Amino acid sequence: MTAQNLPSEPEFEQAYKELASTLENSTLFQKKPEFRKALQVVSVPERVVQFRVVWEDDQGNVQINRGFRVQFNSALGPYKGGLRFHPSVNLSILKFLGFEQIFKNALTGLNMGGGKGGSDFDPKGKSDNEIRRFCVSFMTELCKHIGQDTDVPAGDIGVTGREVGFMFGQYKKIRNEWVGVLTGKGQSWGGSLIRPEATGYGVVYYVDHMIKYASGGKESFAGKRVAISGSGNVAQYAALKVIELGGSVISLSDSQGALVLSGEEGSFTPEEINQIAAIKVERKQISELASTSAFSSKFKYIAGARPWTNITGRVDVALPSATQNEVSGDEAKALIAAGCKFIAEGSNMGSTQEAIDVFEAHREGNQGASAIWYAPGKAANAGGVAVSGLEMAQNSSRVTWTSEEVDTRLKHIMEDCFNNGLATAKEYVPAAEGSLPSLVAGSNIAGFTKVAEAMKDHGDWW
Ligand code: GLU
Repeated sequence: MTAQNLPSEPEFEQAYKELASTLENSTLFQKKPEFRKALQVVSVPERVVQFRVVWEDDQGNVQINRGFRVQFNSALGPYKGGLRFHPSVNLSILKFLGFEQIFKNALTGLNMGGGKGGSDFDPKGKSDNEIRRFCVSFMTELCKHIGQDTDVPAGDIGVTGREVGFMFGQYKKIRNEWVGVLTGKGQSWGGSLIRPEATGYGVVYYVDHMIKYASGGKESFAGKRVAISGSGNVAQYAALKVIELGGSVISLSDSQGALVLSGEEGSFTPEEINQIAAIKVERKQISELASTSAFSSKFKYIAGARPWTNITGRVDVALPSATQNEVSGDEAKALIAAGCKFIAEGSNMGSTQEAIDVFEAHREGNQGASAIWYAPGKAANAGGVAVSGLEMAQNSSRVTWTSEEVDTRLKHIMEDCFNNGLATAKEYVPAAEGSLPSLVAGSNIAGFTKVAEAMKDHGDWW
């Protein structure tokens, strides 16, 4: 990609280079040189919508934010991907998220294109009324550009079922139609069971396959010490599923600091995770709970830190589940020094390129019990958007599946996603004898080739 005439988009360039480098280092372009053209085409969004969002705060002041929707690729289906409300949101971040979403959605096996949107609006410290007024204003413009067969947004950081509800209501009022134009809806009005849990559960189902494959079926989550970052939807449900499968959760965090077990034994309990979930609904910080005697006697709170270098004792599995670039190269080395064997991202682009390089070097260079295995977000966290796809299917056919039905489908999708990345790596990525296949390269190639082939059929490149 030439950088000429393009504004600086560091996050998007990082996501592009990560994908492109794994394609270059595989045999894909030797076998199919024409796919280089597909890479050039797929890297430019089909459309970017930017708009003004004006809303009134509780003091009657006019507030202005920026709204965006990046409609990146529709080869496999309607644009699909979340909305992020966070002060850091800009076009570079949404282009990186939309780009990742194209290949993630392809890996689910469902018919969804890739998109992402959001605003630099900060929900922290806002009243419920302010959030409602913002969502109404945001959707008043966005509704002109989306539709159940065109573009189906959902939640991401800062956008929960509450915000989806306000936006859905506004879409319905303006367009006078009840359609599944958003996913992550409330369960009584078209949402899918298991959608809130899906990303976190899906990461754990994916890692379960990694553990079983690497250990020849001998090991599972039972007895594993699992470090998790974040405390939103993804982290909470990943933590609860780890505990259900017999593992220990040894850390959680938020943007202000990390909460880690003080001793080398024990785990967060489901009750403690539920307490953290409850304060997050009120948009409060973990530090408020950390200072209570129940928490301070069991956990240490490190303000301004991430968990990775602050764990007491061994780490077996790390699940970065907060935001992008939340594992540095040095933190990757610290995790490996603490014994970590499996790293899988609940967040999108959770690892920096330096961290990925550290993990991949230890995969390639080590065999058997000392091998390190890294799974990128676009494979490991695909369960969330996958269940969004199942929500779209239920809405279109006007039915509601049971939790068991959705969970069973989610498990199958995660298993297929793992096996697809594995098989594709074996086919295209040269690896040292006896080393584990590269899930990052395999997943990138599998997602990319599926989209590239569909685009060729559509005449998007030739
Ligand atoms: N924001 C989620 C993701 O990063 C979910 C998107 C969706 O459900 O459309 O995949």
